[in-house]
Amino acid sequence: ADPQPEINLKDFIRGVPDFPKPGILFYDISTLIRHADAWQIATARMARAVAAFKPDILAGIESRGFLTAAPLAQRLGCGFIMLRKPGKLPGKTISLQYGLEYGADELHIQEDAIIPGQRVVVLDDLLATGGTLAASIALLRKVGAKVVGASVLIELTGLKGREKIDTDLNALISYDM
Ligand code: AMP
Repeated sequence: ADPQPEINLKDFIRGVPDFPKPGILFYDISTLIRHADAWQIATARMARAVAAFKPDILAGIESRGFLTAAPLAQRLGCGFIMLRKPGKLPGKTISLQYGLEYGADELHIQEDAIIPGQRVVVLDDLLATGGTLAASIALLRKVGAKVVGASVLIELTGLKGREKIDTDLNALISYDM
């Protein structure tokens, strides 16, 4: 059971209008992660949901996905791997391009990051259009991962990103837009 069900994590997340572009309401988790107790609670709640997927490895999407995935991997006794922007990972990498809510981008993974068949859960801070998470799942499959779930702190349900995600998806908090 949740030790502090009365804590509403939305109270710790700030919506910043027109960032990084006009018309975007940016959900800023800085105010959540700087609050020791709130961040502990968020991590504990997310860990419970992710544990149910029985992962071997957690994959974090650069860069705020690292913040959610790394502490959970430690807590659940899983390995942690990074999905990174171009030019960051040494050695041979596999990549995929995708469209974003505000721009376009490319993610890389080290080609030997996964032992084929390993159970992987992929994490990010926020699901908007779903492009980033869908690309991450496709990239993980390219290197042999068995993607058993995905988890985000925040889902913007109005953008229907969930429809692009063909694995179980858990979201801790959701907003209409
Ligand atoms: P998308 O690919 O459209 O689902 O966008 C998700 C990615 O972009 C995540 O890595 C988020 O960190 C970031 N992102 C997109 N929209 C927002 C938003 N409104 N507030 C904060 N981060 C966002």
